[in-house]
Amino acid sequence: MKKPEEKQEQILRSAQDDSMLAGIYLSVPFCRQKCTYCNFASDAHPAHLLPEYLRLLESEILHRSALWQTAGIPASRDERAVDTIYLGGGTPGLLSGEQLGSLLEAVRSSFRVETGAEITVEASPENVTPATGSGWAACGVSRISLGVQSMVSQELRAVGRMHDAETVRRAFTVLRSAGIENISADLIAGLPFQTAQSWRVSLDALLDLNPAHLSVYMFEVDEDSRLGRELLEGGARYRAGAVPTEEHVADFYCAAVEFLRAAGFNHYEISNFARPGFESRHNLKYWSDEPYFGFGVEAHSYDGERRWANTDSLERYLETMERGESPIADCKVLRSQERLEERLFLGLRRRRGVSLSQLTAEFARDVSRDYGEPIQEYCEAGWLEKDGDRLRLTDRGLLFSNEVFAGFLP
Ligand code: SF4
Repeated sequence: MKKPEEKQEQILRSAQDDSMLAGIYLSVPFCRQKCTYCNFASDAHPAHLLPEYLRLLESEILHRSALWQTAGIPASRDERAVDTIYLGGGTPGLLSGEQLGSLLEAVRSSFRVETGAEITVEASPENVTPATGSGWAACGVSRISLGVQSMVSQELRAVGRMHDAETVRRAFTVLRSAGIENISADLIAGLPFQTAQSWRVSLDALLDLNPAHLSVYMFEVDEDSRLGRELLEGGARYRAGAVPTEEHVADFYCAAVEFLRAAGFNHYEISNFARPGFESRHNLKYWSDEPYFGFGVEAHSYDGERRWANTDSLERYLETMERGESPIADCKVLRSQERLEERLFLGLRRRRGVSLSQLTAEFARDVSRDYGEPIQEYCEAGWLEKDGDRLRLTDRGLLFSNEVFAGFLP
């Protein structure tokens, strides 16, 4: 007998056709200044380029069919209704209500936006003022994702953030007065000067504000951020010497998982925690094989068959769009094998994991047998567990998710 959750998934899956609701992602790669840990394609671009960028972004949304077709993407698949819009970057919180309203208008004239759609804007706490808060609410924004990162001034200053705990408190009050209750906050484990004690200070202070949703990320040491590069090269700039060890960062993350679960949050994805009913509907699409269409610099799209991505260079985006050409830099039709691999490692990001029988039916192959080796290896290592038909990461496996996902790739 199937559990209700499995039945629901089957019903949802069988409804997966061209009528499936899509998400829209709009990229605004402008920031006031570049945080030292940031590995996104955003920058402190000259402010005078922002209006030009917004004009071309609107044009991309409005002329998507022609632009997609020149990149070989069938326009017929884009006539989908959408139920989520997400503005990320960068700092779309830099936009006024008027600028945001104009972008959302372009989306509404290009796609059918469902009533009650989730419309999220990423903002830095210092972007939130009575004017921006009420302006965003007036154009239909229903959710704000605040880049809090820490509630400790020393840690924030060390990475170039411009707010403090008081700015965060004020942002929550202003947003609520404007009628936006669905507030999410990001925290980063692994900032310079962070200790177990200061991490707990951040968690406590943030929970006092009663956010609907929290994302907890571990600082990624890679070539794409200034702090990451400095650490890899063994340098001391950007307070690299004060970055906690990998073991400490893992401990901070585990402490947050325990703390937030005890506080009643639903830990629904590796990095994401929500009050019941406040899971990010947009981000769930990324892990659930649902379509989404991205516009702007480095925006990614997926229509169920192919993935495509825009250029990650602002300069190139402005040039190509100005010439009326497509900003799409890469497009790939997924083979069945690739889709299955994606379904496994994206699905395993969710704490509920994946249904093996569902994948077996959908891909017409015995998934338990074909992936028997990594499944057995990681179950024995205590990183994966089976619950009936479902395969999912264990609490310990959360720290080894990249190793597990790699095991499902050829
Ligand atoms: S972390 Fe956010 S605010 Fe900081 S540079 Fe990156 S995108 Fe901009």
